[in-house]
Amino acid sequence: MSVDDTPLATSSAAAGDVHAPAADRPGALPWQRTMLASLFARRAQWPHALLVTGPAGIGKRILAEALAGALLCEAPRGDASACGGCPGCRYVAAGQHPDLRIVEPVEIDEDEVKSVEWISVDRIRALIRWAEITSHRGGAKVALIVPAERMNEAAANALLKTLEEPPRDTYFLLVSHLPGRLPATITSRCQRIVAPRPTREDARAWLSRQDVPGADSALAQANDAPLRARALADADYQAERDTWIRALAAPDRLEVAALGARIDAVPRDRRKERLAGVVDWLCGWCVDLARVRVGSEPAQNAASEAALRELARAVAPLALFRYHRQLLRQRALLAHPLSPRLVAEALLIDYRALFG
Ligand SMILES: [Zn+2]
Repeated sequence: MSVDDTPLATSSAAAGDVHAPAADRPGALPWQRTMLASLFARRAQWPHALLVTGPAGIGKRILAEALAGALLCEAPRGDASACGGCPGCRYVAAGQHPDLRIVEPVEIDEDEVKSVEWISVDRIRALIRWAEITSHRGGAKVALIVPAERMNEAAANALLKTLEEPPRDTYFLLVSHLPGRLPATITSRCQRIVAPRPTREDARAWLSRQDVPGADSALAQANDAPLRARALADADYQAERDTWIRALAAPDRLEVAALGARIDAVPRDRRKERLAGVVDWLCGWCVDLARVRVGSEPAQNAASEAALRELARAVAPLALFRYHRQLLRQRALLAHPLSPRLVAEALLIDYRALFG
């Protein structure tokens, strides 16, 4: 599932209040207000390549889209934010602005939108050709690359030359929660914007305005990243998570093959995503085991506190630490699991072994 950020057209759907403060209109999130106001105040000095970073699920893409909107607005307000009503803003809201290109790891195959592993070099070459033609509406052109770390090596190299000498009035907005995976040659040519994180109260308030069920639990699972929490609050995802958490709570009865089969039960192209969920659940569970062992409250599994307390007494701290490290390593390798089911089963076997 896409946990970070909503496409521009849908994120502006909640708009409507023309009297809202500048940075609270279409696209912007409440915790981004202050930063946007100060960025808008320096609008004339914006460089041609910006890199928006920060953890997944805090609204980096929405922040980048607010910047894109300001660049493409044809009648900006006094504070340099987008007006929301001019032809430029209306094209942006409809997802049809000819001078805005959004490059994502999705491709259209026989009219079906499919997610792909990498942003290919062909996509970036096409973007560069687009960047070199004259602006359709006579103003700025904006390219959004989300998430930028999904460009493959050839794609990043192709972009590099253009970032060195960007065409006039053309802006490249890169969004990444893993900027360390971008070549340093790219990051060094971008001015970095660290997207603001909401406080837990901001995040709660935002989720409650969106009527997200089980918001507190989802927020804990999402490390307080509200957009990620909104995605995790999905009923099917939570039901599957409950099944796995119940199994982890009783390692002596844990049936590895039965759980592994649950991964093969999802469509092939979503198994990797399901494995990513499983690794997240295992990670959160192990962190909570460590927390209750030292007398803290569980962070992500408050409902299973009794089981956690009992298991924490049976687990050796060093073994738990090593297992957690193994999970983190596995998480870094998630892009290329040989078989999601086999990876999950191996992790479950090692988990069960923690309790002798
Ligand atoms: Zn406008």
